[in-house]
Amino acid sequence: MVTKIQRYVRTLRLKVKAEGYDWLNAAAIEVNQVWNYANATSYKAASPFAGQARWLSAFDLDKLTAGATECFERIGSDTIQRVNAEFAARRRQFKKVKMRWRASRGSRRSLGWVPFKAVQLKRKGRSLRFAGKAFRVFERELLEGVQWKSGCFAQDSVGDWWLCLAVEQAAAQCAPLREAVGLDLGVKDTVATSDGEKLEAGHFYRNIEQKIASAQRRGHKRQAKRLHRSAARRRKDALHKFSRRIVDEYQNIIVGDVSSLKLAQTRLAKSVLDAGWGMLKAQLQYKGQWAGRCVQIVSERNTTRACSSCKALTGPAGLDMLVVRTWKCSECGDTHDRDVNAARNILSAGRCPPSINGNEPSLSVAPPSQASSRCQAGNRPLKAAA
Ligand SMILES: [Zn+2]
Repeated sequence: MVTKIQRYVRTLRLKVKAEGYDWLNAAAIEVNQVWNYANATSYKAASPFAGQARWLSAFDLDKLTAGATECFERIGSDTIQRVNAEFAARRRQFKKVKMRWRASRGSRRSLGWVPFKAVQLKRKGRSLRFAGKAFRVFERELLEGVQWKSGCFAQDSVGDWWLCLAVEQAAAQCAPLREAVGLDLGVKDTVATSDGEKLEAGHFYRNIEQKIASAQRRGHKRQAKRLHRSAARRRKDALHKFSRRIVDEYQNIIVGDVSSLKLAQTRLAKSVLDAGWGMLKAQLQYKGQWAGRCVQIVSERNTTRACSSCKALTGPAGLDMLVVRTWKCSECGDTHDRDVNAARNILSAGRCPPSINGNEPSLSVAPPSQASSRCQAGNRPLKAAA
């Protein structure tokens, strides 16, 4: 019997060695020119002085920019097409007639970005070749034997350049230790598991904060940006370690869907939290996929209020009750930690799907019998009436 090996796509991010920075900075300016041309042209087409308005697609932009490589020293037609495609996709996604300009200079400068197609980047000895220029990257050994799809060179706020490549890898199968876990992504930047474990992610800025403040006072912008980057990396590292441990340990991973109410409560820390939540969810999903786990996202409704032992809604509720970290159920007398209790409720919500309409797709793999199809047919008029 042949078992099909599952494959999945992940992004490799490798730092470019500094000798390539000058070239990339110059290429980024050319990319900005292409982007701004696409922006201006699409805007004109969408709101003309007279005649029919047109919404330009990436294909239209490709035709309009054909031959533009003659005006550029560094980037080729493949990169121009990738910029057009990205522009059209973003414009469609945000439903905007006009996007932001990509500024090449000044304090509001866009961070450099040079996209390319898979064929443009070639291996050559110890380095990589792109647009007639050799680049060397750190951790080159990660590229051995992998086949990449399209990618880009991207600059971070400190000014360093990174090579980002989408690569396809085979999923590894390893046996988990335990059956299922529920995860509550909490308000105070903590993650609690239904087994009582906690990840406190809030302290990454704590010991750096003063350093950042003093660097800013002294006018050392670059130093401050470096410190921000280091805090972000520590946080990412902790999330990676946490998600790796969860995926290695459990077969079924159930994550609470963060509600907009919770987001509204934490307006202050929102940007920090947003990134953390999204990152952890994404990591669990791709690592889970890699290891053949089931990752499920369920509604967080009432998970903080309900008692995980008797299901009575006796827990603290409302904005002013956020300070309550532990509470005692008045129905059954159990004492609960707020976040762990929520994680346990999420776990049980994942085990039995909450809404039963009668015509949902069955979770079992057995083919539908005649009886069940008759049952579904019987339910249809009911649903229409309701
Ligand atoms: Zn109870």
